[in-house]
Amino acid sequence: MASQQPLKKLDEWEDDLLRRYPNPELPENAPSFRNYKETVPDRVREFYRLNHRNQSVEFGRRKREEYLGRSKATMSVWEALELLDTLVDDSDPDTELSQIQHCLQTAEAIRSDGHPRWFVLTGLIHDLGKILCLWNEPQWAVTGDTFPVGCAFSEKIVFAEFFKDNPDSQNPSYQSETGIYQPGIGLDNVMISWGHDEYLYQVVRDHLPLPAAAMIRYHSFYPWHQESAYQILMNDHDREMLRWVRAFQPYDLYSKSQSPPDVERLKPYYSELIDEFFPRVLAW
Ligand code: FE
Ligand code: FE
Repeated sequence: MASQQPLKKLDEWEDDLLRRYPNPELPENAPSFRNYKETVPDRVREFYRLNHRNQSVEFGRRKREEYLGRSKATMSVWEALELLDTLVDDSDPDTELSQIQHCLQTAEAIRSDGHPRWFVLTGLIHDLGKILCLWNEPQWAVTGDTFPVGCAFSEKIVFAEFFKDNPDSQNPSYQSETGIYQPGIGLDNVMISWGHDEYLYQVVRDHLPLPAAAMIRYHSFYPWHQESAYQILMNDHDREMLRWVRAFQPYDLYSKSQSPPDVERLKPYYSELIDEFFPRVLAW
């Protein structure tokens, strides 16, 4: 399966996001700006090639059947965080943050800006869907920019040229602007490419306010929240949620450069926050 896992580590996709969307608040000589002019590593290119070739309507249906409605594991939110940390053990211990540290940094940045408790909690849990790796999903089915399937692939999606190898590109009913959907149908009625966003949304949706659910479900949908593609599919609810998803994005992408959080010190606060919204265990 080596060819299915081109990235050295799962977070190389986030590194590429930083190259494409450098922190606007950083001076131009800061590291994320320096990366901007570098070319995309072949590993990342190969990752997008596999992602765009394989994320089809048929694949999305199969994964939903496989994961939704029948759970594969039962565990608490904190247990899932700890599992993610061991599972996606892909960071360089000297220079990079572990998964749990990324989750805590995102949450801490949201907390220090005085946002509501559900928003802080959303920061903490937003990447828990990456435990899909536990069930040996290839990288391209866990992470990467997400996009709708069942309608034309937007030119605004990174490496859109790779969609020529997607079987849906040969299906005329999937290739008009709205494809199998009605204009204004609302994103919640659109099948988005499968990955950690959709999976986690399905696990936690009943326990969180709507803006939190949208932040989780669409945080990797960069073609929508940063490139303004797929407006034709949006309804009024999406227009309201877009504001929240955009508010979340800088915390996810730009909270990484700060000093690593002290997991043991923060655990009591976050355990209480988790208990406020979630039952003791969830079905994953
Ligand atoms: Fe994520
Ligand atoms: Fe993240």
